[in-house]
Amino acid sequence: MNLVLLGPPGVGKGTQGRMLSETLEVPWLSSGDMLRDAVREGTALGKRADGSMRQGELVEDSLIVEIMGERLRRADATKGFILDGYPRTRGQAEALAAVLAQLGRTLSAALLLDLPDEDVVTRLSGRRICERCGRVYHVEFDPPERDGRCDVDDGELIRRDDDRPETIRRRLVVYHREIEPLLRYYEAEWVLRRIDGSGPPAEVNKRFEAVLASAGV
Ligand code: AMP
Repeated sequence: MNLVLLGPPGVGKGTQGRMLSETLEVPWLSSGDMLRDAVREGTALGKRADGSMRQGELVEDSLIVEIMGERLRRADATKGFILDGYPRTRGQAEALAAVLAQLGRTLSAALLLDLPDEDVVTRLSGRRICERCGRVYHVEFDPPERDGRCDVDDGELIRRDDDRPETIRRRLVVYHREIEPLLRYYEAEWVLRRIDGSGPPAEVNKRFEAVLASAGV
C-alpha cells in the first residue's frame, strides 16, 4: 500500500498517518519531521532548510526530493509507505513518480484530508506536541491530563516554532498556492480521494478506512 496524504497544515495528516501506519503495518514518513530532525541535529541539510521552515515557506524541491528519494529506497519502505507532507509541489509529485517507477511500483492512492482555513488556524494555534514521543495534543479539544506534560511518557509539551499566528497564515497561503496543481495532477492519475478532516481523530480514521476499502487499496 503506497499512500500519499495531502491537506493543509494541522488537518491531522500526522495523527491519521500514525494510525494508518499501525493498521496497515507500513511506515509513516513525515517530510516535516525529517526536516525538523535535521535542523535539531544541525546537519548541513538542516542548516539549508531552517530559514524557510521558520518563515512557513517551502524548502527547495531539490533538497526534499533527495531526502525522500533516499528514504523510500530503504528496506522498511519496500512493502509500502504513508507519505505525509510530501509531495507538496507538482515538481515533487513528478520526482516521486520517477522514484516509484525506478522501484517498479505505483501509488495506491493520494488522500486529500480537507478542512476550512478558520478551523486550521484554531487547530494549529492550540496544538502542542510531546517533545519526546511526538504525540499531538490540543489545549482545548484534546488536552493532556496534566498541564504541559505528555500522558504517555511525561515528556514536555511544546509548541512548534511555526505554529505561531503569522507563520500559520503564511503556511496557509503557500498551501493554497501549491495544492491546486497537485490535485489536478493526482486527479489525472485517477488516484485522488477526498476525506472530510473535521471532527475527532477516531471519526476521521473511520472515514479513511471506508475510503480505502471502497477504493480497493
Ligand atoms: P509540516 O510538518 O509538514 O507542516 O512541514 C513543516 C515545514 O517543513 C514546512 O512549512 C516546510 O518549510 C518544510 N517542508 C516539509 N515538507 C516539505 C516539502 N515536501 N517540500 C518543501 N518543504 C517542506
